[in-house]
Amino acid sequence: MQLGLNQATTMKNADMELDICLCDEIGFYWLELRTEDKLPAYLKRHSFVELAEEFSRRRLKPLSLNAIIFFNNRSSEETRKIFAEFREMVASARAIGARQIVAVPLISSTERFHRREIHKSCVEMLREFSDIAGEASLSISFEFIGHPDATVNDFLSAYDIVVNVDRPNVGLVLDCFHFHAMGSRVEDLEQSDPSRIFIVHLDDAEDLPRGALRDEHRLWPGEGAIDLDAILGTLKKNGWDGPITVELFRPEYYALPPEEVVRKAYESARDVVSRHFCLDEVGDVI
Ligand code: ZN
Repeated sequence: MQLGLNQATTMKNADMELDICLCDEIGFYWLELRTEDKLPAYLKRHSFVELAEEFSRRRLKPLSLNAIIFFNNRSSEETRKIFAEFREMVASARAIGARQIVAVPLISSTERFHRREIHKSCVEMLREFSDIAGEASLSISFEFIGHPDATVNDFLSAYDIVVNVDRPNVGLVLDCFHFHAMGSRVEDLEQSDPSRIFIVHLDDAEDLPRGALRDEHRLWPGEGAIDLDAILGTLKKNGWDGPITVELFRPEYYALPPEEVVRKAYESARDVVSRHFCLDEVGDVI
């Protein structure tokens, strides 16, 4: 089991170079790269080749690009743009050596779609992504969002979509916050095929009612109301053994020194995850 950090956790504390340096030193094995801000900011001053070289010198490796967002149930003009953006991300992932692209479903407070339309659109789009990414041996990790306005906001709906897509390079991101936020059931996780889950996002949350949680309510793993032991214990029982990355978006944490954030993320994740999985610990905490 190898731990990673999603760059959202240090969104306002650190840039690409600092994330890479701190994560590698402190003991993370994976980094999930943000394509919305940190990657383009880095590319203003550097090249893809330099980024690939940064990783080649270290144990830390790029896991995924985050993310192609709001890809389903869009107009034909919007869909054309999404495919163009996705092809660009595939080229970037190849250049950097990232293995996966995270795909996030549409969130809209104005448009409403029936579940059948959502399922159909997601399946069609993810199959197209699978074809495009397959040429570059990349995978797509579909991340349901635990928000009432998200078109796919629970584990079972997302799982049904990837099962229906039925491609080896399309699976799920199981974000513990999103799993908890809209009441996904551990019983459904228990029944699932672990090979369909590509990444787990680790986090915790304030104890708010279903539908009221937002990203800023995320807490360090182990410090909130999510039953992380039930989720991780079920994954372990099912034989799952993929990457687990810490992903937080908390404004208070953005005010902390970057080294403190990365270290706390690592230590809190290690403490929670090691109750269920054997960690590949390389280099102890400095
Ligand atoms: Zn996530």
